[in-house]
Amino acid sequence: NMSPDLPQIRQLDDTVINRIAAGEVVERPASAVKELVENALDAGATRIEVTVSHGGKTLIRVTDDGCGIPGPDLPLALSRHATSKIDGSDLLDIRSFGFRGEALPSLGAVGRLTITSRTPGAEAHAISCTGGALGPVKPAALTSGTVVELRELFYATPARLKFLRSDRAETQAITEVVKRLAMAEPFVGFTLRDETSGEPRVTFRADAQSGDLFDALAGRLATVLGRDFAENAVRLDAEREGVHLTGYAALPTYSRGSSVAQFLFVNGRPVQDKVLIGALRGAYADYLSRDRYPAAVLFLDVDPQRVDVNVHPAKSEVRFREPGVARGLIVTGIRHALADAGHRASTTVAN
Ligand code: ADP
Ligand code: MG
Repeated sequence: NMSPDLPQIRQLDDTVINRIAAGEVVERPASAVKELVENALDAGATRIEVTVSHGGKTLIRVTDDGCGIPGPDLPLALSRHATSKIDGSDLLDIRSFGFRGEALPSLGAVGRLTITSRTPGAEAHAISCTGGALGPVKPAALTSGTVVELRELFYATPARLKFLRSDRAETQAITEVVKRLAMAEPFVGFTLRDETSGEPRVTFRADAQSGDLFDALAGRLATVLGRDFAENAVRLDAEREGVHLTGYAALPTYSRGSSVAQFLFVNGRPVQDKVLIGALRGAYADYLSRDRYPAAVLFLDVDPQRVDVNVHPAKSEVRFREPGVARGLIVTGIRHALADAGHRASTTVAN
């Protein structure tokens, strides 16, 4: 017989595994919103509506008009490491936001999750997952697309619930997430509502833009960052060794006292990256003192093979194979654009 003080190795069950994974994927309500909106974007949605209550703690609902999930596949969508986005043959060629197949099972393990979905030409179906327990697929009513509703986030993991900030702070974080994704996808319409009082109230709205990418982006940035930014920014459009830089960089006179207006996207994915932020600072080194922060929205596009997005479960970090190329492109791309703008301004004055 085994001695009582010998440690025993056990296989953890799926619910526990999903709760552990949820700790990495879903740090707070805003991370759940990010995962659900990214799923809607991956599904090809053109309109995405997000409704939250109490900073997302009691309710997060994301409605989209995307491709939907076939009824028989609903249990699969909620099982771990099941995804329609990659086949596993090339982890260095990822073109969708999602690929880990972790978000929905994680959310179903730490809250009360219901997915209702309809694919073209089929009936709508729904499935629920509460604290990791999967319910049956049932017939449901929905015109098209997908509605994912998450109630009582973290009720199954009270330790995490305790660490959440005030409703106000969590609402703020959710708004930031929605705005960031809205910047990356100007052709998609976004609406954010707060339903805490019982009545839904629109707190952010960005109508789908049309036209060419730069016009659409300018329109979207005016909505998200304000007309001021749009009127004080120069357009970026540069390329170096197969890496493309697009976006808008504000004139040095429009700088800020913090980094609140710096937004970086790599292949359409919002990222936090020290190298890229450092490059942005470097681009303005001649114009700004150390305590001022440039405002800019930068999109780097590169062959997915040359950037690794599989660095962290939250997917907000990336690793470039040649970071020097991206860095150099940002510094010179912005410097040239600012110099051109300065030149145009001075010739306008001279004439
Ligand atoms: P991932 O996004 O990494 O594939 P998720 O757990 O977020 O993993 O989603 C699992 C699967 O469920 C997706 O691969 C997709 O097939 C399906 N799915 C999730 N959300 C949606 C949605 N809004 N519309 C259509 N399909 C969805
Ligand atoms: Mg996903």
